[in-house]
Amino acid sequence: MKEDKKKVYLRSFGCQMNKLDTALVSSALKDAGFSLTDSVKNADVVLINTCSVREHAEQRVFSHLGHLKHIKKTRLDIVVGVIGCMAQRLGAELLRHEAVDLVCGPAQIPRIVELLEKTLQTRQKSLAVTENIRQRNSEEQDLSIERFESTYGIEDKQLQSQAFVRVMRGCNNFCTYCVVPYVRGPEVCRPPEAIIQQIRRLADRGVKQVTLLGQTINSYKYKAGEKIYSLADLLWIASDIEGIEWIKFITSYPCEEFFDDILQAMADSLKVCNYLHLPAQSGSDRILTAMNRHYTAHQYLDLIDRARDTVPDIAIAGDFIVGFPGETDEDFAATAELVKKAKYRNCFVFKYSPRPGTVADERLLDNVPYELKQKRNVELLHLQETISAQLNKAFMGRKVKVLVEGLSKKPHACASGDGQHSQLVGRTATEHIVVFNGPQSLAGEFADVQITQTSPLTLFGVYEGRKS
Ligand code: SAM
Ligand code: SF4
Repeated sequence: MKEDKKKVYLRSFGCQMNKLDTALVSSALKDAGFSLTDSVKNADVVLINTCSVREHAEQRVFSHLGHLKHIKKTRLDIVVGVIGCMAQRLGAELLRHEAVDLVCGPAQIPRIVELLEKTLQTRQKSLAVTENIRQRNSEEQDLSIERFESTYGIEDKQLQSQAFVRVMRGCNNFCTYCVVPYVRGPEVCRPPEAIIQQIRRLADRGVKQVTLLGQTINSYKYKAGEKIYSLADLLWIASDIEGIEWIKFITSYPCEEFFDDILQAMADSLKVCNYLHLPAQSGSDRILTAMNRHYTAHQYLDLIDRARDTVPDIAIAGDFIVGFPGETDEDFAATAELVKKAKYRNCFVFKYSPRPGTVADERLLDNVPYELKQKRNVELLHLQETISAQLNKAFMGRKVKVLVEGLSKKPHACASGDGQHSQLVGRTATEHIVVFNGPQSLAGEFADVQITQTSPLTLFGVYEGRKS
């Protein structure tokens, strides 16, 4: 493979878990002698890492595949692979698509190089999905996934100053609307020493911020000898790693398990960032029960109060689904009420999308019309915008520390500046987006920024100096 350096165009849809998988695949491919290209035109291979959480995400992939089908009419040699959640969900059906040569589910990703080389050689369609995805892996399979996870992404010279580290795979929660347990399999927690070693290697390569990933990350549990390691333990151990300055973790499930220990780690460790992503999904107890979420709105708000008591300046983000089957105006009003009380830093709002194979799709009627879902979506976002605008005003005149990501993608008039510097974007420990003018060499570094203007989504400021 090394001699002809096949070029791969790798495109990623979906959540942070997918971004991490894409980074691992990219690293494994480069290690095997492939090179990456950012245009389909130059590519010998197109790989699409997919998401199945909402129908819209799948439609986008199908439209991309439609485009590739046309390209393949004149470029007979191009190989197209679909990897990730959609590959696992649709399997053979996806392989029948004219454009698709390779289908590889999330649990088979460690085999991606072998599968791709075989497809390039034989030009035969190839399917690699997990037969019984809810069955626990054998020890050997777990080891091979673990090896892949900890080997790749660490030799990448272009690694930026921040990295994702998975602490658990899969999910056992079975929220009635959600496809994740059916495409990513049962919950498996990675051994703490593997996670910590990986963070150490990332720190050695200049990574300053790690974001630990798991679907219900606060319930991370791993028994090693007599000790049961929790997320709070991981946060404390990672805090001792030299070079790592900020530790974030997503996503938490609203439950009691280890909640106070995690908050305490946040309050006591300078490195654990004061940011909590705690999806509520709804503010109506009736809907929460139908969603198989194991808490009431009252219990959820109690967790938020406790979080603010322990970590007064904590920033909390929420997820909501509007238009879940049977959601009435009263249910939606309860959600809006919860949003007002929770005072989120920001909210992600999704229109309910029925997912084949889930309990909600099989047993409940998707009876909230699309227009009403859309209306509720806009209303909730608007409400959150008012709250965010208010909360962000408190930043006026304050100096914040940001980890600079690089050039701002879209120019903001508010931060237009001195003509000497570029418009940069970075994030605070609390995930606030900050736009300011500064030297491009700041990318990947910490900087102090004095906030001079705010909007609901962004803080704008003046560069005060590099933070060592
Ligand atoms: N594990 C996380 C949790 O329990 O909060 C979330 C994982 S899911 C990939 C991300 C978000 O997608 C969820 O919080 C939910 O709001 C949304 N989501 C999941 N299934 C959905 C569906 N069928 N329709 C609309 N939104 C959905
Ligand atoms: Fe999906 Fe619920 Fe698991 Fe989150 S906790 S991944 S929403 S099943």
